[in-house]
Amino acid sequence: MSHTAIPYENLNKLNKSFESLLKQKFSDFLDKGWYVLGEEVVAFEKEYGAFNQEPHVVGVANGLDALILALKCCNFDAGAEVLVPSNTYIATILAILHCNLVPVFVEPDIKTYNIDPTRIAEAITDKTVAVMVVHLYGLCCDMDPILSVVEKRGLKLIEDCAQAHGATYKGKLAGTFGDFAAFSFYPTKNLGALGDAGAVICKSERHFKQLKQLRNYGSEKKYLNGIVGYNSRLDELQAAFLRIKLPYLDKINTHKKKLAAIYQSSLNDGFIKPVVHSDFDHVYHIYNIRHPERDRLKAYLLEHHIGTEIHYPVAPHKQKAMQSMNHMSFPVSEEIHNTTLSLPCSFAHSEADIYRVVEILNKFK
Ligand SMILES: *Cc1c(COP(=O)(O)O)cnc(C)c1O
Repeated sequence: MSHTAIPYENLNKLNKSFESLLKQKFSDFLDKGWYVLGEEVVAFEKEYGAFNQEPHVVGVANGLDALILALKCCNFDAGAEVLVPSNTYIATILAILHCNLVPVFVEPDIKTYNIDPTRIAEAITDKTVAVMVVHLYGLCCDMDPILSVVEKRGLKLIEDCAQAHGATYKGKLAGTFGDFAAFSFYPTKNLGALGDAGAVICKSERHFKQLKQLRNYGSEKKYLNGIVGYNSRLDELQAAFLRIKLPYLDKINTHKKKLAAIYQSSLNDGFIKPVVHSDFDHVYHIYNIRHPERDRLKAYLLEHHIGTEIHYPVAPHKQKAMQSMNHMSFPVSEEIHNTTLSLPCSFAHSEADIYRVVEILNKFK
């Protein structure tokens, strides 16, 4: 019996399910002829704010810029230290470096893959100004102990929510804990645009105004530049597309959770599966397993026409771009990078696809 290939992701199929709505939206957009910072951006910010129950949403060009602009608002002195997990996507680290700040790596918990709250306090020095948490793979960090140390030490808290749209911790949404939260709507994210897009959520009216200025040349009024800004506006067309997909975000998340539940209940014990706890509503941006023979497992799945990815193959401190950190050692993070494998778990996959992946995986010897 032959089987069709199961790719890791299929964005074409995913977005095809919104085809007629997207086409209508583009047609309206073309008729209107307003291309930058128009009604679609304003409406998306309002609607994404309603989804997150946070009124202050500022649309920006991408997730990296969302992190950078959030840090810019904090006005930290150059050289100040920001605590960040050692196993995040490179963007989190780049944002810190681009703001002339120093990333201080904190090891993750080997069970959750998220920053280990017990290690935060010991990493704090008199130069520490902020903690940047990353809700990796769609699982919220353990926020209570993090909030307690952040409050006690007077640090700013910034959440990298690029993988966690709609995830909750004790019923509270990712992006509602910190002074700032950065979202990416890169096409593969749970809420994905048809190009680059991002947003920042902030808590204060002052930062809300500042973010709007920063993304648009530091300008509050046309041709009047109050601060040194950027060009990092959320594209009007992407905002329009995001407005089509936002009402389906819960449906997308529910679908991914259903697929993840199949893996959780059907994969045999030879694979290390994500830890699920009732306090955490995981939205499975990525469904990962770990295995000591990860590379052989990946090749085996490919032989059976099943696509996988590795998030991520190289730890940030081992990247060529981070030469000054290459000598450092983060064994927990390295263990994750060496053993993790991301399995198909998309809105574009059916339950039958996942049962097929499970069947092949459980025969791995
Ligand atoms: C995707 C991602 C980003 C960056 O988002 P872009 O929109 O690609 O700039 C930042 N942090 C994490 C954890 C991500 O997964």
